[in-house]
Amino acid sequence: QSMRTPAALADAERWTAHNYHPLPVVIAEAEGAWVTDVDGRRYLDFLSGYSALNFGHSHPGLIAAAHAQLDKLTLTSRAFVHDQFAEFCQSLAQLCGKDMVLPMNTGAEAVETAIKVSRAWGYRVKGVAAERANIVVAENNFHGRTTTIISFSTDPDARNDFGPYTPGFTIVPYGDLDAIAAAIDENTVMVLLEPIQGEAGVLVPPAGYLAGVRALCDQHNVLFAADEIQSGLGRTGRTFAIEHEGVVPDMYLLGKALGGGIVPVSAVAANRDILGVLRPGEHGSTFGGNPLACAVGAEVVRLLRTGEFQKRSAELGERLHAGLNKLIGHGVVAVRGRGLWAGVDIDPALMTGRQVSERLMARGVLAKDTHGSTVRLAPPLVVTEEDLDHALAQLEAVLTEG
Ligand code: PLP
Repeated sequence: QSMRTPAALADAERWTAHNYHPLPVVIAEAEGAWVTDVDGRRYLDFLSGYSALNFGHSHPGLIAAAHAQLDKLTLTSRAFVHDQFAEFCQSLAQLCGKDMVLPMNTGAEAVETAIKVSRAWGYRVKGVAAERANIVVAENNFHGRTTTIISFSTDPDARNDFGPYTPGFTIVPYGDLDAIAAAIDENTVMVLLEPIQGEAGVLVPPAGYLAGVRALCDQHNVLFAADEIQSGLGRTGRTFAIEHEGVVPDMYLLGKALGGGIVPVSAVAANRDILGVLRPGEHGSTFGGNPLACAVGAEVVRLLRTGEFQKRSAELGERLHAGLNKLIGHGVVAVRGRGLWAGVDIDPALMTGRQVSERLMARGVLAKDTHGSTVRLAPPLVVTEEDLDHALAQLEAVLTEG
């Protein structure tokens, strides 16, 4: 029986731009935490679509919601209102404890929305002089790939040769409160942060940092936006990563898992005094808040309201981190993260993150390196204890046996 993987990889390589460097696996089917490739090999998914698959592949409730909606209505555009819209928006706003939401599709669009809303709020509410609005962001951030967003990236791969860049951003070191205090002036409209920096290697800021940012924003009448696109919706053991610090931001930016791994769904959730600044015609998206997205998104919110996934992530996260911490000194230099989310720094003298990912793949576990020697682990929150232990054993084997 011939193997289909090599030809499928060659075709993908031939017919697409090389803006990714995927692991050489071609996936055909998946359920829960497991995927199957075109040659019938099975792998544990320890990436979860960069946390878009928090509820696992083919979650029965999410698939049923999608199927039911597909047969009824898929798109109206926002020129008309459809019957799935209000319920999704209300349930998501309530999950966030906010007055309202603005639905978009991709994470980058939610970030762009927050940038536009905060600038308009600055001019129309705070009284910032025209064209002077400034936004404070952190070094090593990842907020998406649009030209404005990469304008405030510090990653040369994300930025280089894509200028000219959008002005109006001040970049400060992540985790440094004094730097934020120094960066804020009368033109500052927003501080935009990931409560845990995902792409940077699952960096958890020092205790008290996010609460300190909240206090500074209150003091200077600045909006605090939490980009929870990767960290939110159960990943860290709470609905939002920022909850671990007991902090409530002015804007939650959501995406990835909000679409249940089925459709792209993103949103900004905030109160009326903020999102209310937008007037008809000023912002939008043809597919934003479409019926299929709303039907799936509403089911995602229902799943999160049970608290079951947050609880699993917290409990199994303890097990994951205990297992990883045992590998420190045995090929692992440091482990960071919360819940079922970990950044694992591999001893660079031993091998690169990419090599670890390739060897894990050969042992039936799919994970992806982030920067150089860091491997990110983020299994679906439906992963079982046995599967978690199995993956940890494979990592240990890769590090000790090569
Ligand atoms: N913000 C964060 C924190 C992310 O991790 C990502 C994607 O990795 C994005 C924004 C961008 O989301 P998208 O790829 O859906 O545009």
